[in-house]
Amino acid sequence: MKIYNTLTHRYEELEPIEPGHVGMYTCGPTVYDFAHIGNFRAYVWEDLLRRTLKFLGYRVTQVMNITDVEDKIIAKSVAEGLTLQQVTEPITQAFFEDLDTLRIERAEHYPRATEHIPEMLELARRLQERGLTYTSHGSLYFRIDEFENYGRLSNLENRQVMSGARVDSDEYAKDDVRDFVLWKAHKPGEPAWDSPFGPGRPGWHLECSAMSMKYLGKSFDLHTGGVDNIFPHHENEIAQSEGATGQPFVKYWMHAAHLMVDGEKMAKSKGNFYTLRDIREQGHEPRAIRLLLLGTHYRSPLNFTFPAVAQATAEVGRLDDLTARLDREPETVGRNGSFDGVVSTALDEFSSALADDLNISGALGAVFRLVREAHVAMDKAELPRDSRRGLRHALERLDGVLGVIAKPALEPDAEIDALIGQRNAARASKDFAEADRIRDDLVARGILLEDTPQGTVWKRRSAPEITPIRRGPTPRCREPPMPSRSIRRT
Ligand SMILES: [Zn+2]
Repeated sequence: MKIYNTLTHRYEELEPIEPGHVGMYTCGPTVYDFAHIGNFRAYVWEDLLRRTLKFLGYRVTQVMNITDVEDKIIAKSVAEGLTLQQVTEPITQAFFEDLDTLRIERAEHYPRATEHIPEMLELARRLQERGLTYTSHGSLYFRIDEFENYGRLSNLENRQVMSGARVDSDEYAKDDVRDFVLWKAHKPGEPAWDSPFGPGRPGWHLECSAMSMKYLGKSFDLHTGGVDNIFPHHENEIAQSEGATGQPFVKYWMHAAHLMVDGEKMAKSKGNFYTLRDIREQGHEPRAIRLLLLGTHYRSPLNFTFPAVAQATAEVGRLDDLTARLDREPETVGRNGSFDGVVSTALDEFSSALADDLNISGALGAVFRLVREAHVAMDKAELPRDSRRGLRHALERLDGVLGVIAKPALEPDAEIDALIGQRNAARASKDFAEADRIRDDLVARGILLEDTPQGTVWKRRSAPEITPIRRGPTPRCREPPMPSRSIRRT
């Protein structure tokens, strides 16, 4: 697979450190509010990348952080008189629901920042040991001047003053405007953790370095994010990680361009700001939203418009028409194998397009050509059983990457009831082997049985639950007392 590497500014052959296995880190959400469609543009693209790697035969270990302590979260918790967790948990749950809505595959790990404070402190301690930090007013800062390679990713001159870069209001005491905070000193009314640098909380950049290296190792293959993450966030991640380990941090960096709405930057003030939920409430099919979000090459800005949603809906409809027709129309006789060439050409084109830095228009072109040719073959009654099976199999493989084709209807309830009846009959006649076989068969289809005194009840297995990873003790966060809502007299 060839990808465009932001670090080297070149197209490169992807060669994972461990052959056949890609370790991939994706910057995740800050959970203070519902994610918007611009965020989902990046998450859908990262899902396309993940699924493409798997389609091409790689094993993938993906890590996405959940930022659950940060200025905006703290501001919301103070404003609403809630604990950090009361702010972040519902939003985190909503985020996972949105991922499911858009059929985004789950990453292997979703580490939460507040559960990795020891790892962050350890990283900060190592940076201090190597002389790359200084303290000022109780905060610990990274000294950019001491890190030679700073600016390589964003292509900035080391000495250039980055005007326009957001300077945190907490960071008034820095020696150099480019230095960034590793550990923020405790401020009254804010949550804090104990640390060797004094009570405080981690800087945002520190969490991504600490958690990516914890789950993927000191050096790993792929790091993704939006272009707005390149500077300063990813630049700072490199500085912290390589500064601490002395080893190369990430081999390949990939970044997605922005999403625009009707050709304009999305902003609440312009009334063109949408969360996924806003679009869903207008009745749009999630598969169409997914297709629209993944249909523009990731390095080009995506223009989100409602006519484009309608067009994506029509395209999803074309895929549904074909699967419905394959289900509905009787099989025809005809020369077996006559359609196989069309199918294998489509698969080849699809695969080589995606292997070329995720050329999605090439890949979708191959899919819709296949759909058109399949309709023509069926019109002419030239799609015999074998070819039809081959076509279905190909559609399944293509959809393993795209995730937009309707899933086959669930097992009808009547069929499950009939099987449960057969199992009960087997049990009554003491044929337990047969009863177990039927139960195992149902479990394999995602049907769980429970034998109760009132008879056998069943339910469908729901999607796997997310279990947060908790390893080792995490220092307790001292939440400040609830703010009193007194009026300040001036
Ligand atoms: Zn990050």
